Amino acid sequence: MDTQTASTLLEQIQSPQGREILDPATGELVGRTPQTSPAELNDAVARAHTAQTTWAAQSHDQRSQTLHAAADAIEAHAEELAVLLSREQGKPLNGPNARFEVGACAAWLRTAASIPVEPEVLLDDETGHAELHYRPLGVVGAIGPWNWPMMISIWQIAPSLRMGNTVVIKPSEYTPLSVLALVHVLNTALPADVLIAVPGDGSLGKALTEHPDIAKIMFTGSVTTGKAIIKTAADTMKRMTMELGGNDAGIVLDDADPKAIAEDLFWGAFINTGQTCAALKRLYVPDSIYDEVCQALTEVAAKMPMGIGLEEHNVLGPLQNAKQREIVARLVDAATDSGARVLIGADPDDAAPGFFYPTTLVADIDPQNPLVTEEQFGPALPIIRYTSLDQAIAWANGLEVGLGSSVWSSDPKRAAEVAARMEAGTTWINKHGAIDPRVPFGGAKQSGFGLEFGLQGLKEVAQPHVISS
Ligand code: NDP
Repeated sequence: MDTQTASTLLEQIQSPQGREILDPATGELVGRTPQTSPAELNDAVARAHTAQTTWAAQSHDQRSQTLHAAADAIEAHAEELAVLLSREQGKPLNGPNARFEVGACAAWLRTAASIPVEPEVLLDDETGHAELHYRPLGVVGAIGPWNWPMMISIWQIAPSLRMGNTVVIKPSEYTPLSVLALVHVLNTALPADVLIAVPGDGSLGKALTEHPDIAKIMFTGSVTTGKAIIKTAADTMKRMTMELGGNDAGIVLDDADPKAIAEDLFWGAFINTGQTCAALKRLYVPDSIYDEVCQALTEVAAKMPMGIGLEEHNVLGPLQNAKQREIVARLVDAATDSGARVLIGADPDDAAPGFFYPTTLVADIDPQNPLVTEEQFGPALPIIRYTSLDQAIAWANGLEVGLGSSVWSSDPKRAAEVAARMEAGTTWINKHGAIDPRVPFGGAKQSGFGLEFGLQGLKEVAQPHVISS
């Protein structure tokens, strides 16, 4: 662990008079974040606007080379970034957590840099010739959450820059230092003002969504904030990508092998201690193998250490903030009050430091219980018993959100048939949340619109332009 160099990076990004950011595991001071004033926001947008013309004039190859250099810079600072991320967000260094997140930043950047974008010939016959080109949009305003602060920032930054836009990014007020550090490292390779971070709270985010010189908003966060942004961005007709909350269902079929799927089920639900948009948040299990699945999951859960992120053996951490811990505690209490059966957890130590909530599995829960129907976004998984597969599919599709979903089965054909009936942006088979920078990702229903990743993700941050002769 490299806490020394992490502090050096911190010194370069923090403001001595800034707002305190505390470690969610210990309550210790991590650093002090600068706050952007409205005048500074205007200045940032103006600088990004000016820089965009020169950046857009470069070829795809030139921009791609610069983005690969930025990925090199991330890799050179990987451990410093991971330590800071762990301290600010709370996630452990190991497991699918801080080091994994920093590695993913470089991988996503390289993929966005490498995918060819060619004009598409739409028509070429005796009636004429038409081509579809993808032009830059201008300045992209990026607004992100606190759960995967670096990786989600890269999801917004990488395609935007690749397509010739510049970016002004507002991190969540809970995790600004992680994003400031990432942007600082990226800027060692990028031209000036192509990427500018503006730390601040939701009011600054609102100002960004209203700004006349922002062409597109890339937003990742809650459904409620997404709806507010759609309203404020309407006046200037901004393009938008909305990656919003979910409440992903997983359906286990009766031919699945409980022991074989237990560990993947666990990480599908508990990756980043459950604070993941496309995590498995409600699991439907047939009566015939219900007890075996519950037992296998409980055995896996019992052996996963939770604690301070910088302690190398931990793979689960605290909730990032007190508000989220309260949501998880309220929903688990609602479940236990209703008579649901706790398999493990649900016994938080409220006197202990940090926002820890124990790994919790809740069985024999009513399908309409709030722990099932509301997004818990934390380490508590409800396991719902079913006898009719049609009923389970109806429950899974019964909410207004539809980000991810999964089907678990030993029979690929059956799994594919059930997957086709799921209402979600992605349905995984025998895994959950396995995203890939080459494969588009986005939400159905109120989980948002627009795609990220892959060629489709690049096109989303471009202005389609038809040339017809
Ligand atoms: P929020 O919606 O509360 O906040 C997200 C961002 O929006 C923050 O930077 C926030 O600023 C900013 N913001 C708040 N109000 C406004 C406003 N009126 N206008 C513009 N920006 C505003 O989400 P959380 O940070 O709590 O993130 C958790 C949620 O994000 C969960 O629902 C989760 O499912 C979802 N999510 C979705 C993902 C996806 O890819 N679909 C991925 C990850 C998370 P500030 O924090 O400073 O107030």
